Amino acid sequence: MSLPNVLRLITLIAAGLLLGLLFKGCDAKQPPMQPKTLIIGMDGVQLQHYEQLGGDTHLQKRLFYGKAYAGGINGRASEQATISGPGWMTLLTGVWANKHGVITNNESLRVDPEFPSLFKRLRDALPNAYLSSVVNWSPINTAFLLEDAQGNDVRESGLSDEQVTARTLDILDKTPADFTFIQLDEPDEAGHASGFGPAYQFALREADDRLGRLLDKVEERASKHPQEDWLVIVCTDHGRDYWGSGHGGVTEQEKTVFIASNKPLNEELTQPSIPGDNPGPNNLYGYVAQTSVTPTVLRHMGLDLLPEWKLDGTPLLGATGVRKARAIEGDAKLLWNSDSQETVTIYKNDQIVANVPAYLQQWTDPQGMRQASDYVLELDDTPVAVRTRPASKPFVLEESSY
Ligand SMILES: [Zn+2]
Repeated sequence: MSLPNVLRLITLIAAGLLLGLLFKGCDAKQPPMQPKTLIIGMDGVQLQHYEQLGGDTHLQKRLFYGKAYAGGINGRASEQATISGPGWMTLLTGVWANKHGVITNNESLRVDPEFPSLFKRLRDALPNAYLSSVVNWSPINTAFLLEDAQGNDVRESGLSDEQVTARTLDILDKTPADFTFIQLDEPDEAGHASGFGPAYQFALREADDRLGRLLDKVEERASKHPQEDWLVIVCTDHGRDYWGSGHGGVTEQEKTVFIASNKPLNEELTQPSIPGDNPGPNNLYGYVAQTSVTPTVLRHMGLDLLPEWKLDGTPLLGATGVRKARAIEGDAKLLWNSDSQETVTIYKNDQIVANVPAYLQQWTDPQGMRQASDYVLELDDTPVAVRTRPASKPFVLEESSY
């Protein structure tokens, strides 16, 4: 064979291989998966006591889970009370109470329309999605999300935990159930009534049994509809005080919560990353924050996370972006954890103000942080936000101080 013929043959073989690959690619093409999410909220569950039920719980046998924290960072702009209104709204909006505005359980409060809940974000992006919110503790639906979730297909409040569970099994059986949030309240009620002890453990066991029935239903549905991609998240709004009867304060125990999932989640859940300048009690701030649930659900449901949303949480599926983004207003500094060689884009009040190699893990705002601002740090198409409060004035000793 002459050289030109050899070349022609090689070209033909290469073209054939390429075509084969293309057709293989076509053959391998599957119908698109349909993302579905179920969030099971359990009110006032202390992880340590849940774990004391032993290894046979549905939490431990069937889910991936990790410790998390509620209540923001003590002494910083994100600090919030470890109570239900602020906690559930943080879980459902992906921002702390200094943005969503539900700083107490006062039923006249509404989530700030600038920081809407998952219901509103999903309704805007997916007009035909079937959205449900079924809760025992009514104010979630009847107060804080009254306007925000008015596009829901199902919104039911004030049901017993058993009724919430039965209604949810029905929704999972008979509807498209694209996004479903439910809240079980009885563990919190048992804690308030008698503190830690047999009644609290019994309520946790009951909640875990209900979790098991819901997981069975999701598995049954997923096997009937293999094109559905189910994300289940289990979480709680706050921990409990030393006695178990109260909560609301800033102790480690009240701030300790958990996030569990049927899917293996990324390193933000599995590998704590400690913010060196402020690790928190027993390195609590190295664990995942309660704000991570919303960006995780949005990403699973196929939405791109946008910097203008100013979500405070790191998503637990896919790239984490920078981790533990935080501000030290007095030093006009943003800090974060990352060993990435890529560039972080920094926004301040919606304007790009800097591009910084991620591994530097800090940036100083040349204009200072005298005013409250919204910063967003974006890496790997994953934005995470920090709202600052005005830097306090330098302390000057005046005569009036004596
Ligand atoms: Zn409570």
